[in-house]
Amino acid sequence: MRPARALIDLSALRHNYRLARRLGGGKALAVVKADAYGHGAVRCAQALQGEADGFAVACIEEALALREAGISAPILLLEGFFEASELPLLIQHELWCVLHSQWQIDALEAAATSAYMSGKRLKVWLKMDTGMHRLGLSPGEYATVWQRLAAMAHVQLMVAMSHFARADEPDCPRTAEQAASFVDSVQLLAGAAGPALSLSNSPALLAWPQLRNDWARPGLMLYGASPLAGDDVRASQLQPVMTLESRVIAVRTLDAGEPIGYGGRFVTDQPTRVGVVAMGYADGYPQFAPNGTPVSIDGRNGCVIGRVSMDMLTVDLSDHPQAGVGSVVRLWGEGAPTAAQLAAQCGTSAYQLLCGLKRVPRVYL
Ligand code: PLP
Repeated sequence: MRPARALIDLSALRHNYRLARRLGGGKALAVVKADAYGHGAVRCAQALQGEADGFAVACIEEALALREAGISAPILLLEGFFEASELPLLIQHELWCVLHSQWQIDALEAAATSAYMSGKRLKVWLKMDTGMHRLGLSPGEYATVWQRLAAMAHVQLMVAMSHFARADEPDCPRTAEQAASFVDSVQLLAGAAGPALSLSNSPALLAWPQLRNDWARPGLMLYGASPLAGDDVRASQLQPVMTLESRVIAVRTLDAGEPIGYGGRFVTDQPTRVGVVAMGYADGYPQFAPNGTPVSIDGRNGCVIGRVSMDMLTVDLSDHPQAGVGSVVRLWGEGAPTAAQLAAQCGTSAYQLLCGLKRVPRVYL
């Protein structure tokens, strides 16, 4: 079998979930959309079952896959339903639903007399747009819609939510402004205590832990990657969940002056031992990782040289005389650069790197 694989450390996932929940100060939905950011949603949800207060996914397809695997905890659809025809399934599988647009409220109101509703209530979160300008009702229209939903007998209004646009920038005032606009707009709703609130994603939990969250929504940090640039005392407590590794499948020694790989992007300046590793951009490794991008080779620091191909990449073995065919090369994770460090070096994000994992089998630890 091809030696590329992603090792998934489920105890690190549990550790990171506990940290996120503690920082949020209330309950926390583990965001496992996009196949748990490439880590396998079913296995991750199973590992957190009994511990996580619930899960969040992007769409009903992702939610049903979890239900089919026996996940009985609450599951929130972060984008709600895309068409009213999904409502019977939401009711049947007891899925929670974010409402973000007037058309969804209209569709839900129209469903009041439908047979599938008979006596059942859809649990909903209502989203406010406080500055992300993607989904959600404006602060001005929010209270009216809230009251309208509160009057629907077939709806159980649970949580007021909003989403941050720039929480990964600790010096940017935008997050505090968004939070203030949200709290101002919701405090008069649902009686003196106000409704339950949900604001924070991973960067907000790490950089703004003082924000009130009855329900936090951590995603990336569950997988041990920091969304913050640079060192951070809270992010340093995260444990990487995924380690991407493969092996050297061929070795050659080149004279000085020889180009390596497509485009000859790297030319040897001395006799060089080159290892060919079974890992390429079709697996999700960045195609334009620059020469010198760090890897670990049998536990020691090494680097990529030459352009990454679809199924292979090349590493410099000149300082690794013991290494040869079969040597283990770690691309990110435990004992290698973190996904966030690699992403920064390659002009992408840890989100995209992890979600972009393909073809590589996952091995759960
Ligand atoms: N909440 C919402 C509404 C989201 O869209 C996302 C992810 O995109 C998250 C929470 C989780 O964000 P993060 O992965 O930054 O924690």
